[in-house]
Amino acid sequence: MKEIILVKYGEMALKGLNKKTFEDMLTKNIKRRIKPLGRFVCTSAQSTLYIEPQDEDTDLNEVVDRVSKIFGIAALCRACVCEKDFGDICEKSYEYLSDVLGCARTFKVNAKRADKAFPMKSPEICMELGAKLLEKFPGLTVDVKEPEVTVTVEIRDTNAYIHAENLKGAGGLPVGSSGKALLLLSGGIDSPVAGWMMAKRGVHIAAIHYVSPPYTSDRAQLKVEQLCEKLTDWCGGIAFYCVPFTEIQEAIKDNCPEEFFTIIMRRLMMEIAQRIAEKDNCLALITGESVGQVASQTMAAIACTDAVCRIPVFRPCIGMDKTEIIDIARKIDTFDISTLPYEDCCTVFTPRHPKVRPQLGDIEKAQNSFDFGPLIAKAVENTEMKTFNFEG
Ligand code: ATP
Ligand code: MG
Repeated sequence: MKEIILVKYGEMALKGLNKKTFEDMLTKNIKRRIKPLGRFVCTSAQSTLYIEPQDEDTDLNEVVDRVSKIFGIAALCRACVCEKDFGDICEKSYEYLSDVLGCARTFKVNAKRADKAFPMKSPEICMELGAKLLEKFPGLTVDVKEPEVTVTVEIRDTNAYIHAENLKGAGGLPVGSSGKALLLLSGGIDSPVAGWMMAKRGVHIAAIHYVSPPYTSDRAQLKVEQLCEKLTDWCGGIAFYCVPFTEIQEAIKDNCPEEFFTIIMRRLMMEIAQRIAEKDNCLALITGESVGQVASQTMAAIACTDAVCRIPVFRPCIGMDKTEIIDIARKIDTFDISTLPYEDCCTVFTPRHPKVRPQLGDIEKAQNSFDFGPLIAKAVENTEMKTFNFEG
């Protein structure tokens, strides 16, 4: 029996004239993602993409697992390929569905006849195949309202397909279809989730991380690289920029009032991020901030940070509770990495009493008392870039 994977498009099926571009992007993302698993032919018709393995021993579970993490997909399923012949459809259903139907109590048949030349109409297929399956699996009864199993028969151009599972896809839009943005990625719980949420909306992610050796260790950077690698499952390739931040942090400490340390540091992080964003064609910045979580995330503090930003800053976690963010972090498997012990550059010079309602004028005055320009230029100059891709 030959099995394939059927992929149903998500929201992009609605995109009218741009549909073709979205479709091509999704197909490209899928091909790239499953290439290490063998040879496949991918074709699309009627808002469905067909992934046909060309090798006998392809691990379809692994293919399904990978494809279920690709954004732009509403649903996917494994399906059995049949001749466009009712006899063959029945025979293959007995065999292909024997496990599920053998232990189910209720079922229904759902037929989709894309090929109108097929001699039986959809209701007829449902009735006839339903009757055959009832005969074959005596424990079953039909329940059209809430069946345990829905057997779907699709009559398409070249073949018919049967399946009884429908897995939820990752939703969203194909990564890359919304352009690129630069994620400020710390080793914490929130920023990987923020990156994932924007990738879901079709944004291609690049990441930037600030390190302050010797106050922060190599291990801390490695942890962030691990997060990047994990995110590639969903986000595709990620360019990772690592910024040496020690001198800037020391300059803040030596020249600015302690209560403003964090805000000024965040403003300088944004400044550097924008310069990298510009070089790498990123149209926005992304952070993991959430209102009120810490002193630097009050509305007044965010306003002071935003005042240096010339491009949009997306904060998809802004209205979420920590528990909601953690739920996503667990789902995308970044939580265990994020909670490894680690010292962040933010915690190195944390003020004892940070200003929760900073005034922009005061912050600007404090920051302007020292010329950070040359240090910013040097940090950008010495930023190192690495690329992360799906592991084989
Ligand atoms: P996270 O869990 O993402 O670390 P957080 O709640 O710890 O967030 P902060 O430490 O105030 O909050 O950082 C706020 C945001 O600033 C982070 O979500 C991240 O986007 C960015 N950020 C903080 N530290 C760094 C860093 N060392 N490198 C890159 N970005 C950082
Ligand atoms: Mg943090």
